Order: sequence, then C-alpha cells, then structure tokens
Amino acid sequence: MTDKDTGEETPADDRVGARNQSAADPDRNSTDRRTDPDESGESDPSDSPPDRDSNDSTRSQDDRNRPDEQTSLDGTDTSANLNTDSDSITADMSTQSVDIPDETKGSQTGVEETDEGTDPESSDGSGPLAGEIETAGGADGFSGDIDLDDLDLDTDAGDDSEADGASRGLFDDLLEGEPIFESKEVLRPSYTPHELPHREEQINKMATILVTALRGDTPSNILIYGKTGTGKTASAKFVSEELETTSQKYEVPCEVEYINCEVTDTQYRVLAQLANKFIDKNETYIEERTEELGSLRDRATDAADALEESEFDDVEAIETRIDELEDDLEAFDPVPMTGWPTDRVYSTFFDAVDYHERVVVIMLDEIDKLVEKSGDDTLYNLSRMNSELENSRVSIMGISNDLKFTDFLDPRVKSSLGEEEIVFPPYDATQLRDILQHRAETAFKPEILSEDVIPLCAAFAAQEHGDARRALDLLRTAGELAERDRTETVEEKHVRKAQEKIELDRVVEVVRTLPTQSKLVLYATILLEKNGVHNINTGEVFNIYKRLCQEIDADVLTQRRVTDLISELDMLGIVNAIVVSKGRYGRTKEINLSVPQEETEAVLLSDSRIGEVEDAQPFVQSRFDN
Ligand code: ADP
Ligand code: MG
Repeated sequence: MTDKDTGEETPADDRVGARNQSAADPDRNSTDRRTDPDESGESDPSDSPPDRDSNDSTRSQDDRNRPDEQTSLDGTDTSANLNTDSDSITADMSTQSVDIPDETKGSQTGVEETDEGTDPESSDGSGPLAGEIETAGGADGFSGDIDLDDLDLDTDAGDDSEADGASRGLFDDLLEGEPIFESKEVLRPSYTPHELPHREEQINKMATILVTALRGDTPSNILIYGKTGTGKTASAKFVSEELETTSQKYEVPCEVEYINCEVTDTQYRVLAQLANKFIDKNETYIEERTEELGSLRDRATDAADALEESEFDDVEAIETRIDELEDDLEAFDPVPMTGWPTDRVYSTFFDAVDYHERVVVIMLDEIDKLVEKSGDDTLYNLSRMNSELENSRVSIMGISNDLKFTDFLDPRVKSSLGEEEIVFPPYDATQLRDILQHRAETAFKPEILSEDVIPLCAAFAAQEHGDARRALDLLRTAGELAERDRTETVEEKHVRKAQEKIELDRVVEVVRTLPTQSKLVLYATILLEKNGVHNINTGEVFNIYKRLCQEIDADVLTQRRVTDLISELDMLGIVNAIVVSKGRYGRTKEINLSVPQEETEAVLLSDSRIGEVEDAQPFVQSRFDN
C-alpha cells in the first residue's frame, strides 16, 4: 500500500457507518460539500435558535480571537515581536515563583526553578536583573507568606546575608513583593469551576435529557450553541462529571467521552481517539471482570454452592469465560494515529463501543470546526450507529460556537443531531460581575481588588459579546500588571492597561496570520499613514501595493481584488474604510488605520517576505510627485 492509500482521508467511502447502508442511500453525495460559512446564503429562521443569525460579522473576529486567548496572555509567543515580550515573561516567572511556597512547600518540584537564583553557591548573580535586585533587596525582603525556610532549596546554607547579597538571582526579586494572587490557576481557561452562576437553566436542561442514560436508555442527541465564552464547555464538562459520578454511584454503565474537535479535526482522528479510549475502557473492564471471576472460581472450588447466585453452572464454565475474556484482551488492536483505511478505524471503534452493555455519551466540542475542516461524515456515521449496535447505545452532544453551522449539514444529520437544542446566550455585565466575583474570591488574596475592578472587567467583556473568558482574562491580566507594578491592590488603571494589552495581542495575532497579499495591502496603508496621508483612497493604496509586490516579486492582484482585501481588513477591524461619493467621479473608499501603527508595522516586517522590502520610502515619495 502506498502512503497515499493509507492516508487519513479515504475518499472512496467515508460514510463507513454505511457498512450495509450505502446501498440504501443512493441520494447521498455530500462527501465533498464545502462548508464555508460565508457562503451559507439564506437560512430559514424558523429552524434556527433565537439569535443564530446575529453574529455573522463578528464570527471571523471570534475565531481569530481564540489563539491569542490561549497563548498571548500566558506570555508566550504572540507578543514576541513587541517589547511587551520581556514583560510577559517576567509576569509568568513571578507567577511561578509566587505560587511555589503555597503549592509545593518543602517539595522539590518547582523549587528547581528558583534554584539558580537563590542558591548561594551559584556564582551567576549578575544576570540582567542583578542591579535591580541589589537595590530592591531590603531588610524586609521575603516577608509575608514567602518564607525561604519553607522552601527546600537543596542547600544547607540558608544564610540570610548571602540571600540579600550579591549572589541574589533572577527570582529573588520576584519572590519578594506581597503576592496578589492566592491561586492564579482559578482564573485560567483550563480551570473547571464547580459553580456556574447564570447557567442553571442550561445545566438543568442538559441533565433532564441525559438522565435517560442513567435509566439505561438512549438520551436524545443534543446540540448546544452559543458564542465563545458563554460557558458551553464549562457547563458540559460539569454535567458530564456529575453524570459519571452518579452512574458509578448507582452502578449503571454510562460513560462520557469528551473530544475537542478544534484539536481532533478529521474523521480519522475523531474515530481513532474514540476507538482507543474505548479499548482502554474495555481493558479495564476485562481486568476487573477476570478478577471477579477469579475469586468466584476460588470460592466455587472450595464450596460448590458459591455458584448458586451466579450465571455459571460449574468451575469449568468460569474458566472458559476467563479464557474468552483474556482472548478478547489479546485481540484489541489500538488504532495508529494515521495509516489505516477509515472503515477499519470505524469498525474498530464500533466493536470497542459495542463490547459490552452501556450508554455512551460522546461530547464533540467545537463541532463546527470539525464540519468546517472535514465535512459531516463523522457526524453522519456516529448518528447512525444506534441502528447497528447490539449491546450499547450512543448519544451525541455537539457544542458549536457557530450559530449557523447546521446549515451545512446533511438534513438527516441535522435532524438527528439537533433532537434537542440548547442555546447559551451571552452574559450581560451584571452576570459577568457575579461570575468574576465568585472566581475572584478564590483567585486573589483578600482585599486585593479595589472596588471598581470587577465592574470594569465585566463592562469591557460585556461589550465583547458577553464573553466570560475575556472577563476572566482581563481580571487575571490586571492582577499580573498590578503584581508587576508591585502595588498592593489591583486598580482600575490595571484593568484599562489589561484591556489594551489584550486588544493589542489580538491585533498582533490577526495581523501575523494574514495572507501575504493582505499584509502587503496593509503595509501600503501604513506607509501612507506614516507619511501623513489620511483618508487614503483605494487608488493610492493600490499604487504603493504594486510597488511593494514588484519589490518582493509577488503577484500583483487587480485593483478590484485589492479593494476586496481592504474590505476584509475592515471587517477584521484593522482598517476603517468608508465609502465616499466623489460626485461624477464615482465613489471611492477612504481608508484609515484603526490599529496602532508602530506595533502593526513591526509585526508585518517580521514576515520574512515583507522584511525583504528594504527602503519603502521612495515609493511613497513618488506618490507626491504624481
Ligand atoms: P465556551 O465553551 O462557551 O467558549 P467556556 O465554557 O470555555 O466558554 O467558558 C469560558 C471561561 O469562562 C471559562 O474559564 C469558564 O470557566 C468561564 N465561565 C463561563 N461561564 C461561567 C459561569 N457561569 N460561571 C463561572 N465561570 C464561567
Ligand atoms: Mg468551549
């Protein structure tokens, strides 16, 4: 078999669920239906949840928002081109060092990171911060909760004079200030809160549907919609944990599998991941079962009446069953990450699920990403399984940020998947306040937040389509900025700075990931603005753009296309383009940059191709010569 044959996509029949069904589905030809959300056209509002239509124009922004939510605020790569870089790193280090005493008192983990700095043996006390450290290291250093004696620093010289002296390192300084956070973890997106204010209704609805599973029946499939940060993932995870706990309590075989389709975004990967998870579960099941049977056999060998209550007639029957189970265990064949034909992956998954009686809830988070990337085959196959399964039942819970994504589904998939729909509306400012208040109580030391901090974070995030993630990011970033300022309280100004930082991180991420042609158009706009041109028109942008293309040997697009790219930049909020009428000369656009010029230029120039443009000044000058 060639690589091609064994690749992830097996075009021949991805509807593998249709093992004996494909013949019954002659009209099904949707394997390559494209799912570009922007080409959706009209949809019938009657089959849409209430506010499904409302966020079209913000969707692309939402999508682009996500990466920076995940990375830049942790001080990782997105700010790399800006001078906030070192700040972010500092902030992160301070987190680690501040967290150490609380979380790992006396243990070795984490302490290693401070080792270099605090180890008196270390001769390298002259790092970049050394000067600052010496002046900052006062007599009252290491006050408050941070007690160096509590840290097992792997050195017997717990000598204060040393610690205050020249050999102090990078981390001493950061360990010093009164820490602001009690537990910063609580404000991170990865944290699953135990209480979800203002989601009672949605959580109850999910529970009402899923309780069926605890009665041994198949729950209806559920589709959950809502914009980013409306608590979909948190609520779904909360419900699934409760479901599993309860099923264990009552010994009902019910299992929940969670898959994030933004990460696991092809049919092959989804099915492979599910297959392997169920194989694992089956292995555990077999181990437990053989152990039970083993002890039953032992008891039965001693006294024959031990078998009375059991399904076995004699010891031999138990032995046979144990052998069977062991053979099954041998036969499990985990799916490799690539390489199998899709139908083999599917049947492995199918057999693993059907291995014994149970109800399985498969949660597909960010399901719209899966459909966008790989079409709806996975959903089609999953939603048809129940008619073939003998022992188990499958129920699907799909979670989507894109309120319109079902428009791109095969009608049968759509109706099966959307048996029940639950909408997560955006939070308003008051609700966001409650959410922040709850989290802040555990995240911060007492009395750290000044009065207006939470209301302001809530207000900013409410403007950002009621995004709780943004609210929490703001609060965390504000805390980090206060920590960096070494102030004792988090103030309103920290929230404002946090808002700017997050917004800038977003812009950086959006600009960084633009296609080259759009970057060139944007760069042309920036060059004009730098030369004091405002209300730039499309023709002017086009002229500079053309010169830039020639300079770096890029294809020159038509002015019409460039106009489209400008509109896209406008939609992303990078430029502001308004159409103005020029009387009998027709209409033109007036374009102004709506993001910080310097930072944006820096990001553009970090693109190796655009960085090739050595001296753009003459192009712009020539504009004035015409
Ligand atoms: P979504 O999946 O809708 O994009 P998440 O469930 O990931 O949103 O929520 C984003 C962040 O906001 C998470 O950190 C989550 O814990 C928090 N969050 C959302 N809703 C609530 C709520 N009602 N109470 C507490 N925290 C919440
Ligand atoms: Mg989510």
